[in-house]
This record gives sequence, C-alpha cells and structure tokens, in this order.
Amino acid sequence: MRDIQVYNTLTGKKEKLETLEPSHVKLYACGVTVYDDCHIGHAMQAIYFDVIRTYLEYVGYKVTYVRNYTDVDDKIIKRSQERGITPKALVDEIIASSERDMKGLGVKPATFEPRVSESIPEIIGVIQDLETNGFAYSTPEGDVYYRVRKKTDYGKLSNRKTEELQSGTRDLVKGDKEDELDFALWKKDNTEGASWDSPWGRGRPGWHIECSAMAKMYLGKSFDIHGGGRDLVFPHHENEIAQSEAANSCPYSTYWMHSGLLTINKTKMSKSLGNSILTSKFLQRFPGEVLRLAYLQNHYTSNVDFSEQVFRSSAQRLLYFYETMRELDQIASPATGAVSLLPGHKPDELIEAFHREMTNDFGTVGALREILLAFRKANELRQGKPSPAKVHTAAAYAAVFRELFGVFGLVQAAPEDFIQSLKSKIVADLGIEESKIESLITARKTARDTKNFARGDEIRAELTAMGIELMDGPQGTRWTLQWKDEEGK
Ligand SMILES: [Zn+2]
Repeated sequence: MRDIQVYNTLTGKKEKLETLEPSHVKLYACGVTVYDDCHIGHAMQAIYFDVIRTYLEYVGYKVTYVRNYTDVDDKIIKRSQERGITPKALVDEIIASSERDMKGLGVKPATFEPRVSESIPEIIGVIQDLETNGFAYSTPEGDVYYRVRKKTDYGKLSNRKTEELQSGTRDLVKGDKEDELDFALWKKDNTEGASWDSPWGRGRPGWHIECSAMAKMYLGKSFDIHGGGRDLVFPHHENEIAQSEAANSCPYSTYWMHSGLLTINKTKMSKSLGNSILTSKFLQRFPGEVLRLAYLQNHYTSNVDFSEQVFRSSAQRLLYFYETMRELDQIASPATGAVSLLPGHKPDELIEAFHREMTNDFGTVGALREILLAFRKANELRQGKPSPAKVHTAAAYAAVFRELFGVFGLVQAAPEDFIQSLKSKIVADLGIEESKIESLITARKTARDTKNFARGDEIRAELTAMGIELMDGPQGTRWTLQWKDEEGK
C-alpha cells in the first residue's frame, strides 16, 4: 500500500493515513438536507469525496463510505407545508432528484446512504448514553440539551475556546437551558410525519446528533475519515465530536477532511441573489464530466470560483482529451504483437507521477498537469510514418490515460459519440448553429473544388473568427473548437 498524506483539520497538518483496520478505510461525509433540488455547490463535496474514495480503492483499500440524507429539518417541514404535501412525500421527491443528479455527475452511490427518519432508535440510544455519562439533560419542556462545558476539550476541531464562545450575558439563555452554549439533542415537537415518541416525549432530533448516530451505526464508535464542506466545521462537526466522544468514551474520527466553498463570479451562490445553478440545469447544458473536470482543476481544500468562462474552457479541455483519445485509438488500430515502444516515449512513467501527486493529499491539480504533459507527448505520434512501434506506443498511452482518468470519473465514454454530443452542446452554448458550420464547410469544399482558393480561405477565416477550427484529413474535413492548453498544443 502506498503512503498517503492527508491534511487533517483536527491537527492542522498533513499526516500519513493510518487506518484503524488494515487496508480498510471507513469514511463518513455529511450529506444534503433534502428540502430543495441540489445546486452545483452540493455537487462539489460529492465529486471530491467520490474521487478520494475511488483513489483509495485504486491503491488497494476497501472503502466503506457513508453519506447520509438529512430528511428531518425545519426547512423540510416548512416547505412541505407550503406545498401541501407530507414531509415524506417531499423528501422522497428530492432524494430521487438528488440520485438523478449524482448519476449524471458520475458520482457513485455510497456504501450506505441512511436517512435520519430511519435512524431514530439509534439517535435516541446515543442521547441516552449521553444522559448516562452526564453530558445530556432533559428539561421540563421536553427538550434535551448537550452540556457543552462538561466536555473540557470542546472546540478542538475549530480552535475555539468556550470562554470566547460565551457572549457574556446570561440573558440569552433561552427556555430552560442550563447554559447558553448548550445545544439541542432532542426538540419537543408533534408535527405530523416529522416527530417520534421518545423517553422525553414526542419530538425530533437536533441536527448534530444524527451524524453521530449514523456514523456509529455503519462505521462503529471510532473510524478513519470524516468529511464535509468547510462551512460544517463549526458548529456541526465540533458538536459531532463532542457528542460521540462523550457517549462512546473513545475517539471519534481520526482524520477530518474539509472541502472548500464555492462562489460564482466571486459571490456566494444563493437563491435570493438569483445566481444559484441547479445541478439538473447544468446537466442539461453540459455532461457531468465538465463539472467534474472544473472542480478537479482545483485542490479539494481550495475555495473555488466559477464563471461561464470556467465552464466553457473546462468543456473545451474535455473535448481536447476525448479528441486526443480518438486519435490515439486510430493510431493504435489494428493492434500488433508485442514490439518495443518508440524511443523517447514512456507512458508508464505517467502512472508514477500520478501517484506522486495523488498521495500528497489527493493532489488532483498536479495529477491533471502530469496527464496534460503526457498528452502533449502522445500528440507527437500524430506526426511521421506509421510503424508497429508507433501502434504499440499509442495503445500503451491510451490504456494508461483511460486507467488514470477512471480514478477521476473522466473520459470513460467511447470517444466518437461523446465528441459529437459535446461539440453540439458547446456550440449551442456559444449561440452558433451547427448547421451553419456544416454549410460553411460545404461551401469551402465547393470553392476549393473549383480552384477558388481565395474564397476557400475566406470561409476558413470566417469559421476561425467563430472559434471553429478545421482539420482536413483523408476522410474529409472535420471541425472542432479552438482550445489551447496553457502552453499551447
Ligand atoms: Zn453531519
């Protein structure tokens, strides 16, 4: 097994990944609150942890991955009342929509995807353990709270001290809480379809306790990696640690991995600002691989800023990947017997470079840079005479690219169909009619056939101005979109 360095929010440094069970990673990542369709900010965490999980599996780990659905929440109750449907009907609808989004993004299902509403007995069990250990108390009103100050290392994940959290006045203590810092484990409630019987009367769980309970159900009291967006560090993850360690009397998650946050044109995405992009809407414009690539061009811990320009250039980069793969497949066909590689080409070296980047806290940015360098090298095969060594080299490159792209969930489709569909989507997005491109190509052919080369060149220039590049070959003229990687193709 390769040594993998992981940045751990809990210790504030990169550490070697050491699992509790040999070759087995137990991973929990907080899922979405299912009251509304997912936007591309939700997709961010899902994509990063999908790649992290896939890489761990690629290097030989078994991964047990739990991603929950928060299906009990104030927002769900409010929205279902607005729509005049039951909370369950709303939740089922949103979960189905989220599953479609994940499929479209190529995000594999987690090993377990539990719902809060199906984990109530376990949640009650954890609260009872907290009561037994003196960390929870119930109030005459029928609420149950966590006793924050009793946990002397409270604040260790977010580096906050309880003295600083205190606002300095006791007046803020609501209801019959002992202390303003205490947070709810159980809230008295009798909303139909969103409340359950408990030892403290009818009610529903607080937000933080659900993850403590579901992680324990599927991964045990202690596990390896807990993930989520950075906005969850406080209070959600801090409270999860406090609850689980106090209930189980043992450490909770060894590593805490947090993904960055998304902005659109440097502004936080929000429905009220009208800049929110639903995943389903994005998938109507572009295939999911475009969003995956756009995210993986950033390190998972970085904050990411998207704009229309980022989406377009990511779509064109993906097109370049697929077109190069198609080219390599053509050079590599028909396959020949074992011969040596062309001098100066070592496709296997890319595999080591890829691991060097990925074992360094899942460095997708560097890994993509290495792939791009190897693409440039592989493109040299387009020049010169055919030879058995060239066929063999092209096949070797294509195999390595497909294997490594597989870790990222990219470039796994058969090139021809994907290229056609992606090109159509990109030109539609640019507001160009594909039929116009085709008719200009035909007009150029006619001009050239009648030896009117000046007219032919004019038409080519017109297409270039539209961002369309022509490639004349033995099978006729093909077109693609102009794109240059950072150092030029
Ligand atoms: Zn959570």
